[in-house]
Amino acid sequence: MDPHQIELSREIIIGNDAYTEFPSVLDKLDLKGPALLLCDETTFDVAGRKVKKILEGDGYVVEKMICRDVTQEELERIKKSGLNFRFVLGVGGGKIIDTAKYIGTEDSVPYISVPTAPSHDGIASSRATINKEDRRYSYEADAPIAVVADLGVIKNAPSQLIAAGCGDLLSNITSVEDWKLGAMDNQEYYSDYAASLSVLAASVVINSSDMIKNREDRGIRNLVKALISAGIAMSIAGSSRPCSGADHQFSHALDFIAETPDNHGIQCAMGALLSAGLREMDYSDLKKTMEEIGIPTKINDTSFTVEEAMEAWEKAGDIRDRYTVLDVKEEDTESLFKRVGLI
Ligand SMILES: [Zn+2]
Repeated sequence: MDPHQIELSREIIIGNDAYTEFPSVLDKLDLKGPALLLCDETTFDVAGRKVKKILEGDGYVVEKMICRDVTQEELERIKKSGLNFRFVLGVGGGKIIDTAKYIGTEDSVPYISVPTAPSHDGIASSRATINKEDRRYSYEADAPIAVVADLGVIKNAPSQLIAAGCGDLLSNITSVEDWKLGAMDNQEYYSDYAASLSVLAASVVINSSDMIKNREDRGIRNLVKALISAGIAMSIAGSSRPCSGADHQFSHALDFIAETPDNHGIQCAMGALLSAGLREMDYSDLKKTMEEIGIPTKINDTSFTVEEAMEAWEKAGDIRDRYTVLDVKEEDTESLFKRVGLI
């Protein structure tokens, strides 16, 4: 791990009407067109159209492409489209930004992350998840050259996506505990700074839960900054360790097992509750914040079943080769689920 390179975005613009800054950002980064704008029908309506118009008004040629899922086939389709683009804009949620990460990195062109919802910590990170033949692969991409986050757009995201972003950050609390275990038992590389930044992002959610729930400007701004900071924490760590532990493994297992998985961040928050319960850590703040923000604390309020959740927790330890609390502690699944109140 030593020395290791920390790759960060060069420009991060957050605020109301942030898109109007595009011409100056592109000029500063010396990005010339044509541009490939990735979005889906919804995100084109809420943001893509406006971004395209602003860029075209500045003399850029912008090719729009609708992408549906981050599957290998879909990515090949975009790659083979023959479009001659010099930079990529990912306008949307996690899947679209992940697609932009993959296309940009594979084609060695810069990409800009334009989140339309505060639903995940991948906004500014260099990690992406790609689906291939029913499996999910973690993909190491370049960091976005810029992040342009319009709070006016993000503020109007569906509540479930706002809750999901909070959940993704809340799980940092237990992810960092797992990272400490790995450092202690297996001499894994550990960064105090990255760990502190990751926990700070979770604390911001805990302390801003009211403002976030009420969609106050300050609350949404805090949430977006926390999501970006979590991405920076992962860049500093050189891995997803500060923001992904047993909590995330539970979510990944659910994605395979459940017939209708729920949102990533929702599942991660529940995983954090289980992880905190298993290690007998005080999880009262975590649970209280989940309730305040509207993240389900009962499996019956999610899209998956109790049976699926229990199977996912039991298989979570095998989902990837990462040392977590699941390797050092055991408790009967049903009694743990009952103890933390999930059932
Ligand atoms: Zn996550």
